[in-house]
Amino acid sequence: METVYDYAIVGAGCSGLSLAVELVHALSGDRRIAVFEPRQSYPLDRVWCFWKTTMHRFSQAIGYEWGQWKVRFNGHEVIQASSHFPYQYLPGDAFYAAALETIDRFPSADLFLQTAVTDIVENKSDVGISTNRGAFRAKVVFDGRNDVNQLLNLGSLLQHYTGQKIQAHRPVFDNRTVTLMDFDVSQRHGITFVYVLPFSENEALVEPTVISHLPLETDVYIKLIRDYLNDRFGLNDYEVLFQEQGVIPMTAELSPPNVPTRLIPIGTAAGMVKGSTGYGFLPIQKWSRSIAQDIAAGRHQRLPKPRSWLSTCMDRIFLSFLAEHPSEAPEVFFHLFQRVPSDRLVRFLSDRASIIDIARVIAAMPKRPFIRQAGRITLAGGAAS
Ligand SMILES: Cc1cc2nc3c(=O)[nH]c(=O)nc-3n(C[C@H](O)[C@H](O)[C@H](O)COP(=O)(O)OP(=O)(O)OC[C@H]3O[C@@H](n4cnc5c(N)ncnc54)[C@H](O)[C@@H]3O)c2cc1C
Repeated sequence: METVYDYAIVGAGCSGLSLAVELVHALSGDRRIAVFEPRQSYPLDRVWCFWKTTMHRFSQAIGYEWGQWKVRFNGHEVIQASSHFPYQYLPGDAFYAAALETIDRFPSADLFLQTAVTDIVENKSDVGISTNRGAFRAKVVFDGRNDVNQLLNLGSLLQHYTGQKIQAHRPVFDNRTVTLMDFDVSQRHGITFVYVLPFSENEALVEPTVISHLPLETDVYIKLIRDYLNDRFGLNDYEVLFQEQGVIPMTAELSPPNVPTRLIPIGTAAGMVKGSTGYGFLPIQKWSRSIAQDIAAGRHQRLPKPRSWLSTCMDRIFLSFLAEHPSEAPEVFFHLFQRVPSDRLVRFLSDRASIIDIARVIAAMPKRPFIRQAGRITLAGGAAS
C-alpha cells in the first residue's frame, strides 16, 4: 500500500533541509517525513554569511569568522567592529553534509534524491505529490522550490550577483576585515557594490552585487570581478577556486499563509530571505525551529511569520526608497554604517532590533524621502484594509 507521509518537504535546499532537521529532532519517530530533491549530490554551490546573533544547529560547520567589516563610498571607508556579533561564514557543502548526516540518523525520515516534484495537488484529507519517480501522498506538504522565473515575475527589485573565490599569487587582502559593500565601482548596471570575504592574504571571495530589475549575463559579473581586482589591488594573475550565483527578490510582500493549510511554502518563496538585505540563513533556521516546535506541541492555530510587523514595515519603506532613489542608495548605506553603532545596526539588519536600535537607524536616514515613503506605505495599507 502507498505510504502516506505525515510531512513531505519539496526541495532539500537550505529551507527544506533545515526544516527536516528541526522536524526529526522535534517529533517522535512515529511521524513519517519525506524529502524530495532533484540533486544527486551536494557539492559546494553557495556560501552563507551572517552575523552571529543567535544560536542554530549548524554552528559546528562554521568555517571562518571576522570581527570587523567595512563599507566604502566615494573614496571614504567606514570600519565597524563587534565583539558580540562576529560575521560568520558557513560553506554550503559543510551545511549540506551536517544536515544530511542528521536526517540519515533518523529512520522516520526518507530522503529521495534525484527526485523532482512535477505536480502537487491538495485534496480534502491529504496532498498528492507527483514526481519523476512515482506518486506520493502526505498530510502536509512544505514547498521549498523557488523558481527563478516566478521570482522575476514578482516585478520587485532583485539583488543579483556572481562571486568567485580566488587564489592570488601574492598577498593582497586584509583578512581581518570583510568588505560588505564597496560602492566605488561602475554604477551603470544598477546600484552596484563589491562584497569581499578575505580568508587569507591570498584568498578571498569577490562578489559584485547589483540591485536592479534584471539579472546580468554571467560574463558581465566576471568582468566586474576582473576589473575590481585590477583597480583595487593591481591583481591580474589569480586562480578561480569556486563560483556562486544568486538572484534574490527584494520584496517584503512574500510570506507563509496566515493559517495552516496542507500546502505551505517555505524558504525564499515564503519571504524568509530578508528583502532589504538578502540574508536568509538565520531567518530560515528560526522559522524552521518555530514551526517544528509548534507542530510537536500540537499548536496549529497559526503559522509563524519570518519577521515582525515592524521589521516588515521598515523593509517596505527602505525597499520603496531604493526603487525610487537608486542613485542615493550608496550614500545612504554608507551613512547607516557611519552613524549607527555597530551592534545596533547588526541587530537591525538581523531582524532583532529594539525600539532604540530602530530609532537610531531612522535618525541616520535622509528624513524627507523616508517620511514620504513611510506616509505612502501607511496610506496604501489603510486603503487596502
Ligand atoms: C548564491 C547565494 C548565496 C547566498 N548567500 C547568503 C548569505 O551569505 N547569507 C544569507 O543569510 N543568505 C544567503 N542567501 C540567501 C538564502 O539564504 C539562500 O538562497 C537559501 O539557500 C534559500 O533557501 P531556499 O530553501 O529558499 O532555496 P534553496 O536553498 O535554493 O533550495 C531550493 C531547493 O529546491 C530544489 N528544487 C527545485 N526544483 C525542485 C523540484 N521540482 N522538486 C523538488 N525540489 C526542487 C532545489 O534543487 C533546491 O535544493 C544566498 C543565496 C544564494 C542564491
